[in-house]
Amino acid sequence: MMNDTTIERHSCGALRASNEGARAELSGWVNRRRDHGGLIFVDLRDRNGVTQIVFDPQQPHFAQAEHLRHEDVVRVRGVVRARPAGTENEKLATGAIEVGVDDLEVLNRSEVPPFQVNNDDPVDENLRLEFRYLDLRRPRLQRNLRMRHRIVKAMRDYFDEHEFIEIETPMLIKSTPEGARDYLVPSRLHPGRCYALPQSPQILKQISMIAGFGRYMQIARCMRDEDLRADRQPEFTQVDVEMSFCSQEDVLDMMESCIRYVWKSVLGIELGTFPRLTHEEAMTRYGVDKPDLRFGLELAHVNHIFANTEFVVFKSVIESDGAIVALRYPGGAALSRRDFDALTEESKSLGGKGMVWIALGADGTKSSAQKFLTDDVVAALRNTTGAQTGDAILLFADARALAHAVAGRMRNLVGDRCNLRDPARYAFCWVLDFPYLEIDEETGRPAPAHHPFTSPGDDQWHLIDTDPLAMRAQHYDMVLNGYELGSGSIRIHKPELQRRIFEMLGMSAQQIEERFGFFVRALEYGAPPHGGMALGIDRIVMLACGEENIREVIAFPKNQVGRDLMMDAPAPVPEQLLRDLYLRSTAPEPASGR
Ligand code: ASP
Repeated sequence: MMNDTTIERHSCGALRASNEGARAELSGWVNRRRDHGGLIFVDLRDRNGVTQIVFDPQQPHFAQAEHLRHEDVVRVRGVVRARPAGTENEKLATGAIEVGVDDLEVLNRSEVPPFQVNNDDPVDENLRLEFRYLDLRRPRLQRNLRMRHRIVKAMRDYFDEHEFIEIETPMLIKSTPEGARDYLVPSRLHPGRCYALPQSPQILKQISMIAGFGRYMQIARCMRDEDLRADRQPEFTQVDVEMSFCSQEDVLDMMESCIRYVWKSVLGIELGTFPRLTHEEAMTRYGVDKPDLRFGLELAHVNHIFANTEFVVFKSVIESDGAIVALRYPGGAALSRRDFDALTEESKSLGGKGMVWIALGADGTKSSAQKFLTDDVVAALRNTTGAQTGDAILLFADARALAHAVAGRMRNLVGDRCNLRDPARYAFCWVLDFPYLEIDEETGRPAPAHHPFTSPGDDQWHLIDTDPLAMRAQHYDMVLNGYELGSGSIRIHKPELQRRIFEMLGMSAQQIEERFGFFVRALEYGAPPHGGMALGIDRIVMLACGEENIREVIAFPKNQVGRDLMMDAPAPVPEQLLRDLYLRSTAPEPASGR
């Protein structure tokens, strides 16, 4: 390139009409090339935007420009000029100008990319993940990751402003129970022993309270070896928070105002106060502990309406203290029998016994249980659910918890079908007062609904020996649009109470000592009352970006089956490395494929 002192370096998003006449240097990727009317037009792209550059056949680099391909990396120099009248592009920030190139340097060539980089057209996700560096160049992921940065920065600013300090906790630790399986790291220096990767920094952040820091936060990576879902990854990021000498109210207030600050400063949205529901209310009104409050359609418990029914299914449910739960389906009277059959099948696939539907058509009421419906029953159901002519009512009858759970899932489905789940709306809420224990799906045994460091309500300890399943915890969840964003609790800070909880969970004194002896000991040295919470950054960013999958807001995610397709991990390791760790693989030959 020529030596040129009059030139100014610009990003590809910077030049405007006011720069006309200036000489400029731009560097970036070939986003698109068009040969047109004897000229070559290239859209040059960098992180800030796109500028049109033009090669003229009179210029020495024209022949080279003819060979430019998508994603080649170039540096150009030339004069900024107004685009000819009528060819301006209003959609582009730089759309008023172009650069007439008189100097071109090809910094690097690109192979033909396996998919278009200059747009967000759908591409097979595994291919995107294998070529993640190209995928990340595309507009959507550039936007999402910038949004992620701004959200995390706003969180750090907020907590800094409120006197929290960020403390890094180690990756190689001893197991912290968060209800998942640990990832283990075998130790070479200590044969037969393993570190665990943190499921969360829970114990360490509590110890930092015992250590007198008072207010801790961390943008923390957590690793849990569990089955994957659209909104889960084997490793994920939390904003992890802990406070000393605080009440539950203090934690809720701190976390809620953090989110309000983030939404205001990053999205420009003013959020109102988050509504609060007890766990029991959430389950009875919405059938889930993470209700989507963007829409109403509350579930109605209607056993009383069917008190005199002859319909055996309902009768037996009432007699066995089960529940009949009604859900309004706005506009549902227009559904065909076949649609209703499909909905019934759906409810069965969720574990329910089935579904009764009632279509409130203008020309009369139709139902899958027509002969058991009297006018009085229909009128009472309309009244309780708020259903109007034109709507349908769906009824689910089962054991209490199951009827509500199935109706809750169907409520979300009806919300989807009726377009009530607007991705541009943000309906936050708190769910409080969880049961201390829940039945673990895998083992069938009671396990903490949160983790064993959570304190029961102050007035709940007396139930620990008599009726532990009835015990309520000082445990809270923040929920947004039907997603749990995170959980927290007030912790146990007295060693003898912490031991009692471990004992209730069936641990012997020896097991307590082996797993948590160090922690109980730390509680013995003047642990202050404390509590905290963690919110999942991936989910928060996903919802703020209007995405439905957390992989769209993580730079280098694993795919649906936990593989990193770009690096090809997990991967087999050389025998010798295993031997160094005193390990021998008994795994079958790895299956090929993704
Ligand atoms: N450690 C908990 C979790 O990861 C959060 C908390 O209780 O602060 O869910």
